[in-house]
This record gives sequence, structure tokens and C-alpha cells, in this order.
Amino acid sequence: MLQIENLTKSYGRFKAVDGVSLSIKDGSIAVLMGPNGAGKSTLIKSIAALLRYKGEILIDGKPNRSLEAKRSLGYIPEMPAIYDLLTVSEHIQFIQRAYGVFDDEHVNRLLEDLEMTDKQKKLGKELSKGMQQKLSIICALASRPRTIVFDEPLVGLDPHAIKSLKQTILALKADGCAILISTHMADSVEGLWDTVHIMKDGKILKSVDESVGQMSLEDLYFSITEAK
Ligand code: ADP
Ligand code: MG
Repeated sequence: MLQIENLTKSYGRFKAVDGVSLSIKDGSIAVLMGPNGAGKSTLIKSIAALLRYKGEILIDGKPNRSLEAKRSLGYIPEMPAIYDLLTVSEHIQFIQRAYGVFDDEHVNRLLEDLEMTDKQKKLGKELSKGMQQKLSIICALASRPRTIVFDEPLVGLDPHAIKSLKQTILALKADGCAILISTHMADSVEGLWDTVHIMKDGKILKSVDESVGQMSLEDLYFSITEAK
């Protein structure tokens, strides 16, 4: 479960995130949708406790800077941070040791689902952008986090990998995880969300539950982000 209360992140006088509150229940997927520069990555980095900000962020009821919160958070950054000289399996071992969570069955399933099983001996620098993205996702999920934030996870993946990742995300939801996914592309998240938060200029302009949707997400997005 994720709770954000009145989050503001300023750079000088500029507010990259401006008074955002939202919460995500266990077993549900929220999409954060907004144009480039809306503040999505800033919000997500704040959740991952990588920035200073004003406001409160709780992960499973614990302040996000606490060790307990960090244990239950999975963060997939916009840009995968991969070590050139570690292999795929060494990346995974590193995460398993850092978190003290060794669930090989779970990891093998992730490798299988994201079609990385035969890439385990490859070095980080030998992976394509899409493979690096998939490794970054596997590393974030290896410790079995209960709250997961994905920053533009579908960018750079081929259609097949997008389909697999969507299935993985839906399985995490079925397993009871609270999930946040940012995107600037409305069509990429069709069928994947319980709630959509439309963000622009640091603010959530509108939040929509699936049950409300008469309009397509794309039409709704344009009607809100292009309104004067
Ligand atoms: P998004 O992920 O939605 O594309 P970001 O959160 O990356 O947007 O950026 C939101 C705004 O904050 C942008 O205007 C961006 O230029 C600004 N910004 C992001 N990081 C910094 C920084 N380190 N210093 C100053 N401004 C920043
Ligand atoms: Mg971003």
C-alpha cells in the first residue's frame, strides 16, 4: 500500500511536484499519466526516497525512508542502472544478497516470463536497451516487494516484451501488490489500470476509476491536458 500526502518538490522557485496526494491499495494498479515534464519521475523518485521534498510518503504504513519501507518497495527507474561488468545472474545475486531474500523459484519465473533465461551469462554491457530494461525489472522484483513503482516501464521494449511485462504486472496485482506505473502514452496502458491519475505541471488534474470510463483514456487525456 502506498500513501502520498501533500507532496511538493521544488527546484528553487519552480515546483516540479505541487501538492500531490494519492493512495494505492493493495491489489490495485494506478497509472500516472502526463506529458513530458509533468513531474512523474520527480514524484516516483520521491517515493523511492531519492530526493528531498515536503509532504509525507508511507509504504505499507511506514515512512518511505525507513528500512522496513525500503524492504517492501520495488523501484524501476526510467533509465536502467546496469553494471557493465556484471552478468545478468550476478546482478540478481547482488540484489538477493543485499535484501537477504533468496527466492530462486520466483526469480526463475521472472526470467522465464521476460524471456531472459538464456541471457543469464551475458554481461550488462552486452545487453540491448530492452534487455537492460527487463533486467532492471527483474532486479526490482527479485526481493518480492509489495509496493512497486514503475517509471515509464514500456519505453524501449518490443511489442512481445510489452505483452509479457503487462502479464507480469497483472500477476503482481493478483498477488496483492500495490502498483504505480507512469507513462506519457495513453494507448500503452489500456486494460492495465484500476485508477488513472492525469498529471500536468506538477499537479494531478484528474483521477479516474475504471468504472467511470465512457471515453477512451486517450480522449480523456487530451480533453484534460489540452484544456485551457
Ligand atoms: P516527467 O517524468 O513527467 O517527464 P520530470 O519529473 O522528469 O517529468 O520533470 C518535471 C519538471 O522538473 C521538469 O520541468 C524538469 O525540467 C524539472 N526538473 C527535473 N529534475 C530537475 C532538477 N534536478 N533540477 C531542476 N529541474 C528539474
Ligand atoms: Mg519521466
